Amino acid sequence: MIIKPRGTSDILPKDAPIWQDIEKTARSTAELYGYGEIRFPTFESTELFARGVGDTTDVVQKEMYTFEDKDGRSMTLRPEGTACVVRSVIENGLAGEAMPLKLYYFTSCFRYEKPAAGRFREFYQFGTELFGADTPASDAGVISLADTLLKRLGIKNVQLCINNIGCRNCRPAYREALVAFFTDKQDQLCETCRGRLKTNPMRILDCKSPVCQSIAKDAPKVTDHLCGNCRDHNDKLCAYLNDMGIAFTPDPGIVRGLDYYTKTVFEFIAPIGRDEKTGEEKRLTICAGGRYDGLVEEIGGPKLPGIGFAAGMDRLVAAMRYGSADVPAPPQPQIYIAPLGDAAVGFASKLAYDLRQRGIRAECDVVGRSLKSQMKYADKIGAAYTVIIGEDEMQTGRAILKNMKTSEQTGIGLGSIADILLKEGL
Ligand code: ATP
Ligand code: MG
Repeated sequence: MIIKPRGTSDILPKDAPIWQDIEKTARSTAELYGYGEIRFPTFESTELFARGVGDTTDVVQKEMYTFEDKDGRSMTLRPEGTACVVRSVIENGLAGEAMPLKLYYFTSCFRYEKPAAGRFREFYQFGTELFGADTPASDAGVISLADTLLKRLGIKNVQLCINNIGCRNCRPAYREALVAFFTDKQDQLCETCRGRLKTNPMRILDCKSPVCQSIAKDAPKVTDHLCGNCRDHNDKLCAYLNDMGIAFTPDPGIVRGLDYYTKTVFEFIAPIGRDEKTGEEKRLTICAGGRYDGLVEEIGGPKLPGIGFAAGMDRLVAAMRYGSADVPAPPQPQIYIAPLGDAAVGFASKLAYDLRQRGIRAECDVVGRSLKSQMKYADKIGAAYTVIIGEDEMQTGRAILKNMKTSEQTGIGLGSIADILLKEGL
């Protein structure tokens, strides 16, 4: 048997409705906030991610699916969406359109990670990006979009954590403070973090290793090193969120895993399940984002500030299931039509066709089952009603409509089935 690659998943019909619900809700929420949809390729030049996401990040160093195409060009399956959107904005001249420019997307992402709960090698994101505004008010708008989405999805016990990681002006001094702090502790750090100390010390704060985490706990806080401008930006953002009644926790530990972030960064954290062994509740970041004022220029575009977020859809599904949000069920047939004998097959098929034209979910036998096994099947697929079509029914145009839940039977004209079912609105 051929099995799917590690860290990938199949989404089966029974699970599709919750994904569709998330897509529908995300789309309508993005449109409520004035965002338009953008779609982009599954693979891009490797250089886009090396420059955009950052050479020193885990994503670029360890997690990318990179391959050479037949012309010897280095290509990479997108590990995230933001760099792709920025590339598309520049290439298509969207930077010349009315600002702010607001875009949303659904995308699959590919990262060579160690698979675990809520961590896959192919996963799905819903993301938004806003270009052409660098104000705290635009940050508050973006965060409120994410907040609205999570509320609309019925995800409970969500914690919003916010930080400001500084800008080009204040980051260098903070970097030095971090290097000074970690240098005499470097022997205790993991190998990756020893490298990070040289290339990108802020990444150490994001390390998942418990030892590095416990050392990083006492590291200098970025919030103590912000310039006046960044501090003011942060104060205003916090005030706006308070005004909107959006609860949040300031968390100087959040630095985010991608290099392009400046100033505001944020994460929404929620329970997605319980650990099978310990029974402990597992909380994960379900949505994360931040400001990236230098990214468009980095990728070769004009000076254009931006801010966005991506919600991990696999984690949204898990959080909704775990928090027992109203999870939609797959739609069931409204009526099952059972032809009795060969002569009725064509008639029944046409009846099903006519009902479908009127928007009724009608099913009809196509495998030549006996009446008994047809009824069993109708029950199995959850048909709300059944109707049997035999010689009599074809001649008189009347039949018995059976309600499968109550077993109630009603004599009806075949022509009125659609009206009856439409009135029921199942
Ligand atoms: P983490 O710290 O969990 O590794 P990240 O910082 O790498 O996350 P981002 O690149 O910001 O994550 O992606 C945004 C969101 O996408 C995350 O908050 C998460 O919900 C989801 N996500 C990221 N990596 C994965 C993965 N491997 N599998 C499933 N979802 C993921
Ligand atoms: Mg990651």
